Amino acid sequence: MLYAEPEMSTKTDHPIQISAAAITDSAAGADEHGAASGVTPAAGTLFGLDAAALAVRMKALHEPAFRARQLAEAMYRQRVADLSEVSTLPKALRQRLAAEGWQVGRPIISQVFQSSDGTERYLVASQGGEAQTVEAVWMPEGDGGESGDGSETEAIETVSGTGMEEQPQILRSAQDDSISLKESVSSRLKATICVSSQVGCAVNCQFCLTARLGLQRNLTAGEIAGQVVAILDRQGVDVGRDRLNLVFMGMGEPFLNYDNFMAAVRLLVQEVGLSPRRMTVSTSGILPGIERFAQEPADLRPKLAISLNAPNDAVRSQIMPINRKWPIAALLDAVGQIPLRPRERITFEYVLLGEVTDRPAHAAEVARLLRRSGLPAKVNLIAWNPGPGVAYSTPQPESVERFRQTLIDAGIPAYLRKPRGRDIYAACGQLKRTVESAPL
Ligand code: SF4
Repeated sequence: MLYAEPEMSTKTDHPIQISAAAITDSAAGADEHGAASGVTPAAGTLFGLDAAALAVRMKALHEPAFRARQLAEAMYRQRVADLSEVSTLPKALRQRLAAEGWQVGRPIISQVFQSSDGTERYLVASQGGEAQTVEAVWMPEGDGGESGDGSETEAIETVSGTGMEEQPQILRSAQDDSISLKESVSSRLKATICVSSQVGCAVNCQFCLTARLGLQRNLTAGEIAGQVVAILDRQGVDVGRDRLNLVFMGMGEPFLNYDNFMAAVRLLVQEVGLSPRRMTVSTSGILPGIERFAQEPADLRPKLAISLNAPNDAVRSQIMPINRKWPIAALLDAVGQIPLRPRERITFEYVLLGEVTDRPAHAAEVARLLRRSGLPAKVNLIAWNPGPGVAYSTPQPESVERFRQTLIDAGIPAYLRKPRGRDIYAACGQLKRTVESAPL
């Protein structure tokens, strides 16, 4: 076998052991009051609070409610990271807030790794005193992951009326992080940001480097949304003009940190101004999370991607232990309960592992599985990205193309996701807070 016998819980050297029962409880929302929930924002941190919560803070300070709206506008739209620079608030109020220990507290980009293909991988640090960093990735031009999932409609709607041509621009960052890139953005930009939802991950997919960290903690809503706002700021993105996709596919399983993940989505939609139809959340198949997700209103619900990765339960349980708890049939049933928007498709992510999941018979089985499900499905194929200590092989290009063609011949739209930032460990499944670059 190319892979080790998997375990449901994290590895013994991981700081937190998590059981399958804990996985269920967390996804079902039991973490709202329990120890497994995300860390409480540091006392005095404003970033992460929505307008209503900010209004409560302002009321406690005997300030009018519109001050909360001004503060939200400054933090989320103007991306002001220092309270002293919120020019819409009276100076006396800013000084009073600071004297009482309040700060914006937005996460900061502490390290940048630049790929030869323009991708940037970031280590993002919380300002709440938490030592661990998380990873986020900026992919100019994206990686094609949204192809065929209904996003095109949104793109057309966004473009129409702007008078701007679709003109992707690759940005390369300056060595000095203090140099703003805002001036270099001169045309409509297309990019994808990949963000993390947890530090590490408990799901233990055998092909994933993040799994090696185990679960260390959940991120707060502010820490999740803060990755996005920090990157928007660094890259000088104009939210109303540029074509930005957001994928919750970084470190962690978003549906095991459901409340904080959805609170971050609400912030990003309602305060930052991003469209949920240009956001995709990927899950390994946490059923209680999918059931909750199905209840979310369409104007706040990102698109869904299922990390399938195998043609049947036998193979999937070997490479994704979570499948022993929630097998494929139950997963597809739950996904079928989600009320989709017109033209929206469920994306099935499929990591091709050489000789393990990339054979012609596997492709035929995936095609049968998805056709039988009756779901409006599309498949994103990802040729496995190598990582140190993970004993799989990258599939041959011919196998990848044969797999894709089999799906297409069966009437299933299938796309190959471009590997982005492999040389800096930024590609799918490679996020592990690696501080060196990968050998080319
Ligand atoms: S692939 Fe995703 S869900 Fe699986 S271990 Fe990695 S981060 Fe967790």
